Amino acid sequence: MKDLLLQRYGISKDYYEMGQEVERTLAARFAEIDEIRDYNQLKVLSAMQRAGLSERHFATSTGYGYEDIGRDLLDEIYAEVFGAEDAMVRTQIISGTQALTIALFGLLRPGDELLAATGKPYDTLEEVIGIRPRSGSLQDFGVTYRQVDLLEDGTPDYAGIEASLTPATKVVEIQRSRGYSYRASFSVEEIGRIIRTVKAKRPDVYVLVDNCYGEFVERLEPTQVGADLMVGSLIKNPGGGLALNGGYLAGTKECIALCADRATAPGLGKHVGASLGSCRRMIQGFYMAPHVVAESVKGAVYTAALFEHLGFQTSPSSQAHRADIIQAIRFEKPELLKAYCRAIQAAAPVDSFVVPEAWDMPGYESPVIMAAGSFVQGASIELSADGPMAPPYIAFMQGGLVYANVKLAALLGAQAVCKERG
Ligand SMILES: *Cc1c(COP(=O)(O)O)cnc(C)c1O
Repeated sequence: MKDLLLQRYGISKDYYEMGQEVERTLAARFAEIDEIRDYNQLKVLSAMQRAGLSERHFATSTGYGYEDIGRDLLDEIYAEVFGAEDAMVRTQIISGTQALTIALFGLLRPGDELLAATGKPYDTLEEVIGIRPRSGSLQDFGVTYRQVDLLEDGTPDYAGIEASLTPATKVVEIQRSRGYSYRASFSVEEIGRIIRTVKAKRPDVYVLVDNCYGEFVERLEPTQVGADLMVGSLIKNPGGGLALNGGYLAGTKECIALCADRATAPGLGKHVGASLGSCRRMIQGFYMAPHVVAESVKGAVYTAALFEHLGFQTSPSSQAHRADIIQAIRFEKPELLKAYCRAIQAAAPVDSFVVPEAWDMPGYESPVIMAAGSFVQGASIELSADGPMAPPYIAFMQGGLVYANVKLAALLGAQAVCKERG
């Protein structure tokens, strides 16, 4: 490893040794991550064995996809692992945003109110909800929206959430991950507390958790602490890097039935949707997911520790509890953010020769710089980093199928950033 890092990748001896030293301080953190990984691995394995997974489930259906046994078995496995009554995992759900849209339109009716309990939801939901007006949004269908911002210290405003529940409130939305904001992610324990706060006053509302980036980072999932429904993307954690696309919903039988009717057609529900050959990769990906998520989390912890060592502010810190796979680093200067993203790109298995430039992405106020070289387009369970070219020049990095690759990326990044800093 040392020879390759020094000779092939141009890491200087000083940075190599710094990396070794930083890694030695993380032994206890890595042991905790391994324990969570092993626990989740057995949870997944056991569900596959209990469901009777067999070669025949990897066959595919076509057309309407009636009686697709692989697809139905995958639903059963997801439900069991997530402690939910039912689940719907589909190649026809093209992204996390679509899974969330199915959930919102499945549960809400004209006159109902949606309450966001952890501040403004993920960017792509603004037009779905109608925060940014758009034809076809929930608002366009007569669903009103209210949001409870986080407190100054980034924690949920429990009293504010309770006070904002009105007779019209039908769905309370919680976002587990920080997404691309510089706030803490919420542990499943904290999510449980929000749910208890809501249910104490309004046991009849549906609590929906945006679980993107959260799966397998902790031992429990939101559906195991009372969430009625949670959703996520298969090109993030639960696809394990193998799923080529897809999304899932897991929750109560009632919620899944409502959402299935929205996703396909009222009356068709979960009965249709050909898997088109996707079952093998989706099932194997779910099997790999606890391991791959642990590799990502180790990579994020190592990256945080290395940049802390160099005097940068990170969130979460290398020692903090984690509830998702995202790592933020504050660079304060545009050149440093750019140098970091370029190093991440250079470390990727795919498109390592590409040099990222900031560009005006639709929907963003400032230019955004992105680094990604993944086997699956846009997969953020694979190593990727991006950041808006605006103060305080924060890079959000996530993913990494293999820890050794993230480690290389962090070392290249550290060396490039410090060279630029002078
Ligand atoms: C990624 C993400 C989404 C949206 O998922 P896409 O697959 O990109 O549409 C929603 N919420 C959070 C917190 C996410 O991280």
